Amino acid sequence: MRALIDVHSHLGQYSNAGMSAGGARLAQLYRTAGITHGVAFSIEACYGGIDAGNRLALEEAATEEMISVMVVAHPSHIEPSKRWVAMAKSNPKIAGVKIHPVLGNYDVLSTATYRLFEEVIAPSGLPVLSHVGNESPNVPIDRYLTLARAFPTIRFIAAHLGVGLMGLADAAIDAWKKNPAENVWFDMGTLRAFFTGSVEALLRVVGPDRICFGTDAPLYHPAPFARVLEALEISDEEREKIAWKNVLQVIPALKGRPGVP
Ligand SMILES: [Zn+2]
Repeated sequence: MRALIDVHSHLGQYSNAGMSAGGARLAQLYRTAGITHGVAFSIEACYGGIDAGNRLALEEAATEEMISVMVVAHPSHIEPSKRWVAMAKSNPKIAGVKIHPVLGNYDVLSTATYRLFEEVIAPSGLPVLSHVGNESPNVPIDRYLTLARAFPTIRFIAAHLGVGLMGLADAAIDAWKKNPAENVWFDMGTLRAFFTGSVEALLRVVGPDRICFGTDAPLYHPAPFARVLEALEISDEEREKIAWKNVLQVIPALKGRPGVP
């Protein structure tokens, strides 16, 4: 693979020390996995502490050229969200916006979330990555696709293959068949990707241009995800697309950054 871009990783302190990382540790995990560039977001900010979390994530990424950042936005913090998203204009590290309706405790289709998208995210032109999962009534894949339909100018990534580890394997496949949203891509940062055939089955339905490599590091070791991608029963062209080409359709700003063709 010519490059390997991790579109889903975290900076900051989790409840488990080993699953926490500053910039240097995250970059080391990337290198061990053969990842050439990564997109990371603050774990603390996902819970709602967006000022402290985004500030720390940008500080930690500042000295690591292989790390780009998505700033976290939150519908209960509209003014701070505006500030962080606007910072993308002057800080080239910022490549998108992360939302986490589960940890942030809000509904992805709530009035407040729509307001966040209308007033803050859509005008920025930045892509969005959200946690999505079967175990998450706040943001299962069918409701995320509904949100994406409401904002056709925004490019969305559905994390965790759109399903996560628990629950029905076919939830994303069925939701996509009912509501294929041209502005939605998926990342494979879930242990579900280790289930034989899981990535291939989604790929057959959404096509080869929509799945992006992701690891959820440092919550998971990223290296096995790289190995899973190498082992998938797909063509080398499809592998290359998942490794780095597809993500450049969602986040064109990554082109030419260190480790990105
Ligand atoms: Zn994550």
